Amino acid sequence: MMIIMHPGATKQQVAHVIEHIEAHNLSAHVIEGVEQTVIGAVGESHTVSTDVFETLPGVQTVQRISQPYKLASRQFHPHDSVFPIDGFSVGGEEIAIIAGPCSVEGRTQLLEIAQAVREAGANALRGGAFKPRTSPYAFQGLGEEGLEYLAEARELTGMPVVAEIMAVSQVEIMVKYVDVMQIGARNMQNFNLLRAVGETRTPVLLKRGLSATVEELLMAAEYILSGGNTRVMLCERGIRTFETATRNTTDINAIPVLKSLTHLPVILDPSHSTGHAAYVSAIAKAAIAAGADGLIVEAHQDPAHAMSDGKQSLTPEAFAKMVSQVKSVAEAVGRRVAVPLAHRERG
Ligand code: PEP
Ligand code: MN
Repeated sequence: MMIIMHPGATKQQVAHVIEHIEAHNLSAHVIEGVEQTVIGAVGESHTVSTDVFETLPGVQTVQRISQPYKLASRQFHPHDSVFPIDGFSVGGEEIAIIAGPCSVEGRTQLLEIAQAVREAGANALRGGAFKPRTSPYAFQGLGEEGLEYLAEARELTGMPVVAEIMAVSQVEIMVKYVDVMQIGARNMQNFNLLRAVGETRTPVLLKRGLSATVEELLMAAEYILSGGNTRVMLCERGIRTFETATRNTTDINAIPVLKSLTHLPVILDPSHSTGHAAYVSAIAKAAIAAGADGLIVEAHQDPAHAMSDGKQSLTPEAFAKMVSQVKSVAEAVGRRVAVPLAHRERG
């Protein structure tokens, strides 16, 4: 439930409400708005009467949140969550573009493509060091060596880095090297992993499961938020349907649906959602027109020889063209593509 404090409520009154929440074995999540403080009481709150809080000093009203996800819901947090990630912000007026190879394949490969995507306008670099592959015989990623190259690419380009975490045992090393931890589609309901990243304060890009509903995605985000990690971005990356012409089916509907149900930023991955480089730019533009807050796109200097997902990877030239077209769509819908940190510093 949500406990909405009076505009003039004092810090002591807020602290008193929190004490009561905790005394009922619920956890308190405070949002300090410009005018009012809202305190979320999360847990088995249906067993507790709203009267318990309504009579406390400083409390204006108490409301129950109707959805099964609480901290993720727009009811709890009516304004869009905007959070900074090392140099740019996600969820506000600016569109964030994350780009890079599916896998970190080697030092030269990564540093080259990192510079190329930065020049083309990327705000952050992606690259997998631990790869969830369908076949156990396929390239599984370079592990820590890959993370070291990502850290070097960040030094070189000034871009924050995004990489996938596959297991709870990788939390420590990931927090050390990356700016955003990606939870892949196959792990969207790995609840132990969700809890573990929720304990950290490293931003998370949570991808929708292959056959997960929007509500299941939001419940997965709730696991992370309930641990106190508030910087969660949701990512639509295509879902399984009967259609085989594309790798997955981009659920464009999910973008406005998510934007209405949650305050969390919504990112679209046109690479995995289409599976073909030729369709990536069209779907990227559609996503921005539909209200997405950002894109995560695979790019490779030599897609034909990429160790994973070459078919859907854009060349640096194709990526640059996509960015310029996305900029026009962003402007048409009253947004703008974030200026890359490195460019900002130079200017
Ligand atoms: C990836 O980003 O390379 C990836 C494996 O994505 P997904 O989990 O969406 O399949
Ligand atoms: Mn990939």
